[in-house]
Amino acid sequence: MIQAARAAATATAGATKSAPSVRATATATPAPPLQGRVIVLDPGHGSHSGAESAAGNWEDDNVLAIAQDAVPMLEALGAEVRLTRSTPAILGSADNTDLTARVADAIAWHADVFISLHQNW
Ligand SMILES: [Zn+2]
Repeated sequence: MIQAARAAATATAGATKSAPSVRATATATPAPPLQGRVIVLDPGHGSHSGAESAAGNWEDDNVLAIAQDAVPMLEALGAEVRLTRSTPAILGSADNTDLTARVADAIAWHADVFISLHQNW
């Protein structure tokens, strides 16, 4: 009985060790940095309000173009992007209702970031 146990112990001790297991390496692509974030871009003014350059360029036209150009860039970073306006028109019938509408939209859309674009020259 003792000899059988010694033989088994010797056989176990002499057995070759199996190769260490290879750990799986992380291959998942990291999430885009703005994933899950709602960014509201607010092109200021509208209906040719705001600043006008000496050359006759209107602030509201320029900031709308800037906002529209920024949308695909922010979306590529994972953000959900919304614009307070996507047409040349103002949002309200007057400055105070226009501003109220922009803020109300940002709140309703649960904005993480609200960026109001203005340009004066
Ligand atoms: Zn402005």
